[in-house]
Amino acid sequence: MTGKVYLVGSGPGGLAHMTTRAREVIREADVILYDQLPGEEILSSLPEGAEQIDCGKYGNRHTLEQDEIEGLMVRHAKAGRTVVRLKGGDPFVFGRGGEELEVIREQGIPVELVPGVTSAIAVPGSVGIPLTHRMHASQVTILTGHEDPLKPESALDWELLARSRGTIVILMGVKNLPQIAQALLAHGKDGNTPVAIIERGLRPDRRVTTGPLREIGRIALDARVQPPAVIVIGGVVNLYNAKAPDLIPSGD
Ligand code: SAH
Repeated sequence: MTGKVYLVGSGPGGLAHMTTRAREVIREADVILYDQLPGEEILSSLPEGAEQIDCGKYGNRHTLEQDEIEGLMVRHAKAGRTVVRLKGGDPFVFGRGGEELEVIREQGIPVELVPGVTSAIAVPGSVGIPLTHRMHASQVTILTGHEDPLKPESALDWELLARSRGTIVILMGVKNLPQIAQALLAHGKDGNTPVAIIERGLRPDRRVTTGPLREIGRIALDARVQPPAVIVIGGVVNLYNAKAPDLIPSGD
């Protein structure tokens, strides 16, 4: 009999912010395919009875290619096993969960989504930056900074983003931040728009770097900002208070 695949989000940091359903399905799993993003506290708590496969898909270090991961999920599920695909944050926010869902469905394998708290919302929140606020922003755009915006084939509409009066949240944007800032400025965004970069959110060594859009590329380079980081652009960043305690205590 065919098993089942659970696409599980581990949330933005430690065990405290993982859902009850995620804990339940992890307990039931025969096989767990995990990424590094869930972090040490969660990964070291995985049940020893389950086969654990490190997909190590982080940054440029690919221990398993995407099609190999999908192949393993399908093979184990077809052998009747309960498979957990564990990802940081929410599986459907830049987690390639959508692609994995397509493959699982094509194979006729039962599948359940276990949503997680996405870092896009919780990481800024953890340092006191709400993405919406009646006085500052009534809309939010979440985008990937993975692609260089200066390339002509960029899939993102930089003109629309530059015109947006809402909050812009960028995941995977550290490497391209100078180009992203340049693209927004070139399309007319105000150079004084405040930007916050939150590295390693909800972790004990989290760091926040802020600056105006026109200078943030250089500031980030000088501060040697490293991934993983969430970048927030917009008036809500003015609500950040470096002296205030974090709103979410670190997980691990
Ligand atoms: N599915 C995930 C996002 C995966 S993309 C989610 O919903 O959160 C990976 C990106 O997420 C990283 O490059 C970074 O931009 C962001 N990210 C995830 N966890 C983070 C953390 N604890 N601190 C800062 N950024 C984080």
